[in-house]
Amino acid sequence: MLERWYPWGWAPNVFAIDYAKLQALGYKGILFDIDNTLVHHGADATPKVEALFRELDAMGMKTLLLSDNSAERIQRFNKHIGAPYIAEAGKLDPAAYRRGAKMLGLPVEQVVCIGDQVFRDIRGANRCGMASILVDFIRLPQETHYGKKRVLEKYIMACWRRNPRWRDRLGNIQK
Ligand SMILES: [Mg+2]
Repeated sequence: MLERWYPWGWAPNVFAIDYAKLQALGYKGILFDIDNTLVHHGADATPKVEALFRELDAMGMKTLLLSDNSAERIQRFNKHIGAPYIAEAGKLDPAAYRRGAKMLGLPVEQVVCIGDQVFRDIRGANRCGMASILVDFIRLPQETHYGKKRVLEKYIMACWRRNPRWRDRLGNIQK
């Protein structure tokens, strides 16, 4: 019942993921969510994020930004990264994920989606059979209020953690 929302893997943040391990598993491309995954909602890319994209590029991992946000917002984030992107993706629609894989010239099976929202990033990827990694959402220290969805996400991930069949699909993907 809850499986439809289960990610294939989890990491505390995008910097804790061992991308070489993903590559060894046969993954050649990544669809990244931007807001609260790579940077705080609406923020510009940081030097650390830009370095991550350079690192992925150097190792031959293809990347694409998949966002429900506007083209203007993505372009601002993407200024020094220059990754291909899909704006206003409509993330629950599996077509957006298939389109992302196609833009990278890869079959869906060789692409991983990385995002912070169980009900959007992960559910959408699951709907088209794409691997996915959930990361904890980025929030500022003064942000203490959780939305209802975040409470539900916590519950779903607590169930996921107790379920090795789903939890260990990618093995240990953290550094
Ligand atoms: Mg997000």
